[in-house]
Amino acid sequence: MTNIRSLLRATIPVLCIATAAHGAAPAPLRYTVNLKDRADTLFKVSLRVDRLTAANAIFQFAATAPGTYQIMDIGRFVRSFHAYDAGGKEISTARVATNQWRLSAPTRVREIRYTMAPTWTTTVTENQVYLMCGSSLSEDHSLLNGQAVFGMPKGMQSTPISVQLLAPTDWKVATSLKKSGGRYLADDYDQLVDSPILAGRLTFSRLNVTGVPVDIAVYSAHDQINADQLRDAMRDMLSAAGEFLGKLPVDHYMFLYYFEARGQGAWEHSYGSEYSLPERPYTPQYGKQITDIAAHEFFHVVTPLNLHSEIVEHFNFETPVPSRHLWLYEGSTEWAAHKMQLESGLKPATEYLAMLVQKMNTDRAGYDTTWSLTKLSLTSYSDSGQKQYPNIYQRGALVAGLLDIKLLELSHGERGLRDLIQDLSKQFGKKRAFRDDSLISIIIARTEPAIGEFINSYIRDAQHLPIKEYYAKLGITLIEDEKGKPLRFEVDPNPTQEQLKLRTAWLGKRGKLVS
Ligand SMILES: [Zn+2]
Repeated sequence: MTNIRSLLRATIPVLCIATAAHGAAPAPLRYTVNLKDRADTLFKVSLRVDRLTAANAIFQFAATAPGTYQIMDIGRFVRSFHAYDAGGKEISTARVATNQWRLSAPTRVREIRYTMAPTWTTTVTENQVYLMCGSSLSEDHSLLNGQAVFGMPKGMQSTPISVQLLAPTDWKVATSLKKSGGRYLADDYDQLVDSPILAGRLTFSRLNVTGVPVDIAVYSAHDQINADQLRDAMRDMLSAAGEFLGKLPVDHYMFLYYFEARGQGAWEHSYGSEYSLPERPYTPQYGKQITDIAAHEFFHVVTPLNLHSEIVEHFNFETPVPSRHLWLYEGSTEWAAHKMQLESGLKPATEYLAMLVQKMNTDRAGYDTTWSLTKLSLTSYSDSGQKQYPNIYQRGALVAGLLDIKLLELSHGERGLRDLIQDLSKQFGKKRAFRDDSLISIIIARTEPAIGEFINSYIRDAQHLPIKEYYAKLGITLIEDEKGKPLRFEVDPNPTQEQLKLRTAWLGKRGKLVS
C-alpha cells in the first residue's frame, strides 16, 4: 500500500490468500449487488444461502483488510440488515457488535439483504477508511472493494463466492475476477477482498510484460486522464520490473485507476493494484509520479503477496492481528521500486541518491526515530502506531537499501537483497507461509551471523542508521550540515578498486551514475 499523504510530504510514501477447502465443495455464497438503483446512494446487497448451521449464526463485516494496516470497522456503514426464510418470511436478527449481526434461526435463513453506505461519502468520527480501500457509488461509476461491500456468515471465509452486478447497460466493469454465466467468481472471501471492482465510465488499455497480459482501467471524473496515457507512462517501468524479477509470479495483472478531486494512495492485490489519485490534466511529469507509485504496488507481487507469514495467509477479518515484518512487506518493496529503476538505467544514481536524502530528512523530521521498524509494525493498528506507520516507506526503504549493500559486501558483490528475497520466495510462496516468529532465523541461516546483528540493530532496534558508512563502501559520500542534517550525496570520481567493485555490483547491469 502507498499513502500519498506521506508521499506529498516527502517523495513516495497497503492481500489475502485462500484457505484450504474440506470435503464436498460447499454451496457458493451467491451475492447480488444492485448498482442500477442509486437514488439513495446505498449499495443494495442480497445474499442467497442454504444449509447455514448454528456455527454461521453470526454475520461478520470486516474490521480490517490485508495490506492496509488500518481499522475499518465496515459494520459502521450498514444501514439496514434483514434475513428471510425460503418463503420470504422475515427471520429476526440483532446487531451484537460493531461488525456483527446475529441470525436468530440460521438454519432457516435462505436470503440476507442489507444496504450499505459508501465509505467515500459517509463521514465517520474515527478510522476513516482509506479512499483506495473503500467504496463509492455515484451517477457514472462505482468502486467496490470487497470488504467494504460484502459481509459473510462467520465460519464461511473459505466458501466459494459468486457475485452478480446489476449495472447500467452503458457501464463497463474492470476486475481481476473471472466471469462465468454472468457472475464474477471468487475461490473464497479472501479472494473477493483481493479483487476490487471498478465499474462505470472507464477507459481501458493493455500491454504485455514478460509474456503476462497487463490491463489498465481508468475512471477519470472529468476525462483528464485515460488508460493509454498511463500505459505509455508505465511501459518502461513495467519491463524493467519484469527484468528485475526475471519472471512475474502472476499470469495476469490489472491496474485500476480512479481519478477525482481527492486522492489518497494505492493498495496492492495478488493480481492487481488500485489507485485513488487527484485528477489533474495529464502531463508526462504527473505520469512519472504515478509510475513511481505503480512501481511500488507492482512490486508487492513479490511480498507480501508471494512471500508472507501465516498472519497474512489466514487473514483475520474479525480482529486485526499485526505482523512483525512490515520492514519486508513495505520497506523492501519501496526500496525495490526505486532500485530496479536504477539498475535498469531508467533513473541515474544521482536521482536515486537524491530520493534517499529526501527519505532521510522525512524520517528525521517527521517521525519518532526511537521507534524500531518492528515496533512500528506491531503497533500499526493502534492510534500511536498509525501516526508512525508512514515512516515504513522512509526508514523501511533506507534500511532495505543498507541491507542490500551489506549482503553485496558479504558476498563480494554476488548476492544482494533481491537475491535473498527471490530465494525466500522460492522457499515459500503464495500458499506456503513462513512463521511470523521464525523469518529472521531463516534469513540468518541463509546468510551470515553479521546479518543477524544488522537486523537486531536496525529492524528490531532503532539504532542510528550507518548510511554514511555504508555508502562510503561504494565510494559515495554523504554530505551533512553542521547539525548532521543530510544535504546530498557526492559520488567519488576516483574510487578504490574495492569501492568500484562493490559500486558496480550495486548499480546492476544497466545502472548509470548520471543521466
Ligand atoms: Zn506498499
